[in-house]
Amino acid sequence: MPIQRTSLACLLLFIGSLLAACGSGGLVRTIEGKKNNSVLEAGTWGHLKSDRNSWLAQLPPGSAITICGDHQMETLAALRAWSNSVGRTGSFAFSVGCTPNVATKIKVVGSTRPEAKAHCADRKRGGSAFVSERAIILCMDKMLYPILLHETGHLWGMCDVYPAKLLPSDNCDPNWFTGRNSFSVMGASYTSNLSGADIEGVSKLTTRNDVAGNRLWNGGRSFAGDDDESGEEIKGPAVSAHGEVMSDELRQALEDLMSESGTQ
Ligand SMILES: [Zn+2]
Repeated sequence: MPIQRTSLACLLLFIGSLLAACGSGGLVRTIEGKKNNSVLEAGTWGHLKSDRNSWLAQLPPGSAITICGDHQMETLAALRAWSNSVGRTGSFAFSVGCTPNVATKIKVVGSTRPEAKAHCADRKRGGSAFVSERAIILCMDKMLYPILLHETGHLWGMCDVYPAKLLPSDNCDPNWFTGRNSFSVMGASYTSNLSGADIEGVSKLTTRNDVAGNRLWNGGRSFAGDDDESGEEIKGPAVSAHGEVMSDELRQALEDLMSESGTQ
């Protein structure tokens, strides 16, 4: 939908975090249908409202991350894309091959595995990210990298910002959510490059003082034994960023992946 000139000033005000009533248009609450490279691109991103203890943004400098299961090289590239955008790639030790003794393992179940087929049966999405399990389940063969880029975004701590009319999602923390869009990776753009909004969102995530690991990157306090609220453990069943509960079959598949990788 073309953006009318009279509403442009309202939208620019929105970017400046001023939710202002403009002219006769009323409050600007969402911006939908924007195009790539729009000046209005920035400012529409969000962070997950749960699983904070598992976000990759929590990892301190020097952490090792290894990838297990399927599509390891593509997953590595996706993880690095997010990491590059906030300048952390050189400070993480990424590896493929499900390296033994590496605590942070990212597990990927490809779409051709029976457990993935069972999980994906009646879902119309490209994949699922179980953040607390650091696991990604793929539901499609095509658009592999764009889907991995979206799902690894969830592992970092990003939520879905799809336009509400496309696919409503409520996995965003209302305190860290600036709006929906369809042009970013987290807005289901199915593109292979992070948008300005994706990068702005993850950058904001990595400077949050209440995300404890960030203090080690930003020269702040150590979070070990800290008394801040981010030390809360979020317990419960494994629920994906999209709200699905992990089945026993899926959990077994993840265990099998680890076995196949020779880590037991
Ligand atoms: Zn998603």
